[in-house]
Amino acid sequence: MTVRAGREFLAIPGPTTMPDEVLRAMHRPALDIYSEQMVNLSDGLLRDLSKLFATKAKSYIYIANGHGAWEAVLSNVLSRGDKVLVLESGRFAVGWGNAARAMGAEVEVLKGDWRRAVRAGEVEARLRADKSHAIKAILVAQVDTASGVVNDVEAIGKAIKAAGHPALYMVDTVASLGCMPFEMDKWGIDVAMSGSQKGLMTPPGLGFVAANERAQGVHKTADLRTPYWDWTEREGVEHYRRYAGTAPVHLLFALRQAIDMLFEEGLDNVFRRHQLLAEAVRRAVAVWSEGQVLGFNITESTERSNTVTTVLMGNGFEPARLHRYCKEKCGVVLGVGIGDLQGQAFRIAHMGHINAPMILGTLGVIEVGLNALRIPHGKGGLEAAIAYLGESVSA
Ligand SMILES: *Cc1c(COP(=O)(O)O)cnc(C)c1O
Repeated sequence: MTVRAGREFLAIPGPTTMPDEVLRAMHRPALDIYSEQMVNLSDGLLRDLSKLFATKAKSYIYIANGHGAWEAVLSNVLSRGDKVLVLESGRFAVGWGNAARAMGAEVEVLKGDWRRAVRAGEVEARLRADKSHAIKAILVAQVDTASGVVNDVEAIGKAIKAAGHPALYMVDTVASLGCMPFEMDKWGIDVAMSGSQKGLMTPPGLGFVAANERAQGVHKTADLRTPYWDWTEREGVEHYRRYAGTAPVHLLFALRQAIDMLFEEGLDNVFRRHQLLAEAVRRAVAVWSEGQVLGFNITESTERSNTVTTVLMGNGFEPARLHRYCKEKCGVVLGVGIGDLQGQAFRIAHMGHINAPMILGTLGVIEVGLNALRIPHGKGGLEAAIAYLGESVSA
């Protein structure tokens, strides 16, 4: 017997659930890519992406996932042999660094830990020691989707400034843009990148990059540039050049709709919604943890992301069984542990098009699974989440 039917619910950190309005926005014929309508669509989106990144700088849209946007950034500002400093706090900044190494950069990883955020003081100390300014770029993820950490990218920006180091500061916002504050200009970030399929509620397939004037200056002499990624190639008057070829028309329709929805709700409200629903998840996980089998991966409560929660499962219990139960019996797909946490954790995504029934439903299904599989856990996790929302969402 199962209690699943109809739409399977994805509680994975990307691709995320898409609003019906976004899906419907794509159900129409393609545009003439040389039309004024097409030009207006692009202009509006590029302007609004810069608004989302909170920058006066130019944005670029690539037909690519996050990995593609990583390469877009690297190829535009690096030259062979350049040294890159990766700030480790899980898997993703390290992955970005691996791409840089494969492209010909020299990569140093500032050793971090899967259970905590990057420490700004350690970044400052490393940069102060780099007296010859060999480091050309610093890579960090605002949220590491594997560990579930949120890094204080504002504090890291201040640390770079305090060290007086000229390296470009480059931030991955794939799992955070449109879900929590991000202030590219205010926080001293030179290049930011993101993707369509997480907080931005759009199908996978679009990568976004914003680059400020400092980055554009470095770009002029970068020797890893290739035609598809190249910012300069995308600047010509001809609209066709902006995508280095045919525009991904339907994905752009979807993105237009998704951004309209975010702006209509108001970004502050969107961020607050994420914070409330994330805290509801954390209240439940905190109660479940009393059973000595489950626990937060991120030890410091203030370093837990508002977009994804990584839950460790120990004492010989297998997260794969819970994952299978939730999916096959109840139609809820949890994220699995990845990287160092493979086989040791599950992840609950709470980013993008999420609301109270989705999150309370997901938490309820997890409890059903914990009970059915006799996995020890503190009782009353869902009740704690409900109580928190009842107190925090005023009548
Ligand atoms: C998902 C993710 C990526 C990779 O994006 P893909 O679209 O899967 O290539 C990069 N960085 C972060 C922080 C992510 O969460």
